[in-house]
Amino acid sequence: MRIIHNLDEMTETARGWLAGGSVGFVPTMGSLHQGHISLVQAAHQECEISVASIFVNPLQFEESDDLLSYLRDLSRDLQLLSTTNIDVVFIPRTEDIYPAGFSTFVMPTSPLWAVQPAKGTGSRIYARGVATIITKLFQLVRPDIAYFGRKNAQQIAIVRQVVRDLNIDVGLRILPTVRESDGLALGSRNHFLTHPERQAASVLYRALLAGKALVDVNVRNCAEIEKAMMDLVVTEPLVNLDYVKVCHSDTLSSVDTIVPGTMLMIAAHIGKVHFIDNIIWRGGTNWLL
Ligand code: AMP
Repeated sequence: MRIIHNLDEMTETARGWLAGGSVGFVPTMGSLHQGHISLVQAAHQECEISVASIFVNPLQFEESDDLLSYLRDLSRDLQLLSTTNIDVVFIPRTEDIYPAGFSTFVMPTSPLWAVQPAKGTGSRIYARGVATIITKLFQLVRPDIAYFGRKNAQQIAIVRQVVRDLNIDVGLRILPTVRESDGLALGSRNHFLTHPERQAASVLYRALLAGKALVDVNVRNCAEIEKAMMDLVVTEPLVNLDYVKVCHSDTLSSVDTIVPGTMLMIAAHIGKVHFIDNIIWRGGTNWLL
């Protein structure tokens, strides 16, 4: 496992790979857990060279508090990565990625991933931050395939748009959400929760399953499904719902009637911890959970 901090060293190394095998890349913000590791393992299995990056991207945070409180534990991350067969861990420094005078941003203008109220992953600041950093990381690492978890639907929509609009030569692989036994999606900050908060957090996945149960008995009206999901979340007073959205999984545009490819999305916060999750109906009994 080789660790690279320096941008020129990353560029040189990636240039050396051009004639070699395929490069699989897993971008992360660190605080790694089994969700990230599942992506690393897929990259290792499917590509000759696997690279993960760890970079907490200041550009995608609206609130400086959220950036400052973002969990960082590099030695633990490296220890976890050393249990995989990852070839390179790229850990650039913030001052190298955004040096004084940095002034070029990638700004997607599609409103589709912005949800009302546009907060966190639904905001334009977030879209610009993700689009800019992923463009820079793709330039530096030059991957053939980049790996993302399905949990963050906005991130995937933004990356797809950037890759298409800027003709970036990279394949995108989207992998399933890794969950706790009660369905809560693994997340870096899950263990910040107190015991009662942690128990309440399971309502997010239960709400998604309540929506699924309606679809499974042929309910097709999105408003009815959204209402059932919201009604369940309000039974947990510790959970503050940000939004429930029923939309198309490719475009994130709202739909009135459920069709194959429809995504049920949920976002909430408990204390200062933000959660997002989604499931996708593929038609019939086929769900991506
Ligand atoms: P982050 O470090 O939060 O930016 O996430 C890095 C990547 O890990 C993104 O592609 C996320 O979608 C993915 N990820 C985060 N949590 C999970 C999870 N529970 N299961 C699968 N992938 C995840």
